[in-house]
Amino acid sequence: MAFDYAPAPESRSLVDLRSSYGLFIDGAFVDGSGPSFKSVSPATEEVLAEVTEANATDVDRAVKAARRAYTRTWSKMPGAERAKYLYRIARILQERARELAVLESLDNGKPIRESRDVDVPLVAAHFFYYAGWADKLEYAQPQGRRGGRPPQPLGVAGQVIPWNFPLLMLAWKIAPALACGNTVVLKPAETTSLTALLFAEICQQADLPPGVVNIVTGAGETGRAIVAHPDVDKVAFTGSTEVGKAIARTVAGTDKLVTLELGGKAANIVFDDAPVDQAVEGIVNGIFFNQGHVCCAGSRLLVQESVYDEVLARLKRRMSTLRVGDPLDKNTDVGAINSSEQLAKIRELSEVGESEGAERWSPPCELPDRGFWFAPTIFTGVTQAHRIAREEIFGPVLSVLTFRTPAEAVEKANNTPFGLSAGVWTDKGSRILWMANQLRAGVVWANTFNRFDPTSPFGGYKESGYGREGGRHGLEAYLAHD
Ligand code: NAD
Repeated sequence: MAFDYAPAPESRSLVDLRSSYGLFIDGAFVDGSGPSFKSVSPATEEVLAEVTEANATDVDRAVKAARRAYTRTWSKMPGAERAKYLYRIARILQERARELAVLESLDNGKPIRESRDVDVPLVAAHFFYYAGWADKLEYAQPQGRRGGRPPQPLGVAGQVIPWNFPLLMLAWKIAPALACGNTVVLKPAETTSLTALLFAEICQQADLPPGVVNIVTGAGETGRAIVAHPDVDKVAFTGSTEVGKAIARTVAGTDKLVTLELGGKAANIVFDDAPVDQAVEGIVNGIFFNQGHVCCAGSRLLVQESVYDEVLARLKRRMSTLRVGDPLDKNTDVGAINSSEQLAKIRELSEVGESEGAERWSPPCELPDRGFWFAPTIFTGVTQAHRIAREEIFGPVLSVLTFRTPAEAVEKANNTPFGLSAGVWTDKGSRILWMANQLRAGVVWANTFNRFDPTSPFGGYKESGYGREGGRHGLEAYLAHD
């Protein structure tokens, strides 16, 4: 049982929200030509602000501003000078960290502990890391300088991101693009535009030359206009596999370069020699961190049969201590589901899990009356054929399967159209290395889960997409390869 704690809410007064926002184009907030839409707090359904829906004309304006900035200033600027801007942005992100964390939790629904301790520090770390690369790009590509010519940027990058890590996905996209000398037009997800707009203010505060970063808000149509724009040289997308496939079709036959970071259905594999308490923390972190709205979430737990009862008993006990509720409360472990649409999808797939014969369990847990909530849930008795073992639920729902031998664990783990991440829990170093070689996943964590670092590349196999973000590899996607 969870102890009663006194509420410890972070103050909302740190955030100065405007009632409505325009688009950030050419260094200024401007009116768009389309209608506006509401950004709501998923925890209370309160309207936080009105945001502009950019249409194709607005996108064209943003791309033109990005092209001008690219040609006139940014691509000509020495890397060491570009680095100064990135460092300045990184420092301002740190100075305004609390404000950013509060706004992220308000708009997205994630617990303040996570936005404060994970998202925002990683966002600043990305800008610091890529600032360091801006004047060392000749070391970024294995071939080094081509015929004495330093590596060249691509031009204008069109970037479309999802709602689960709004600021962090923005940092993954913008920091390497700018370090390499590209300019960007970025679209945040329609349910989480507000921190991207606050980031636009930070670009102004950092005196970033106008047009280097442009933020256009809107939904799928706006994203489509960016991807299809003829003067966009590179498309970087993070989101669902379905939309990723549509984007790949749109850019096929054009000169555009593309990176796609898509969905996942990661196996988190617990062997009988694993430290059980540590593994249980890793399972909880793997699937309940950020309400399970994590592309690399450990959503399929594979437990060795001999320790199944013990692991499940301890997991249930640990889940009974999770606090679900107000994202701004510093005691909260699991916040709100980001939107009513996502909640409906989680409910639907959970009902399918029950109807297909899996056994559903959640700890007793009081959910708030207003807002979008889903209790941490596990399904046992899951087989490989169940939809909840195959499809991404993108919520706080864990499917539990068992295995007897390492070979069976590998076969089950790889039996998925996705290939983004995996986790291995064991005492044996040799087994970790063997498993890492066998698993078809872009990232394999050993005795930990959901660890991110700007120096480490991230990306998928198969339907989880292609290209890598982060680390030296992340620069490749923003440099010319001729
Ligand atoms: P989504 O694909 O619905 O939307 C992602 C973004 O694409 C949004 O900004 C949306 O407005 C835009 N969009 C929608 N239709 C579009 C179109 N036709 N053309 C261009 N843009 C379009 O995904 P989502 O529901 O926002 O995010 C959840 C998905 O993102 C999950 O599948 C998750 O696994 C994935 N994800 C992947 C990673 C990764 O690094 N691999 C990271 C985070 C999230």
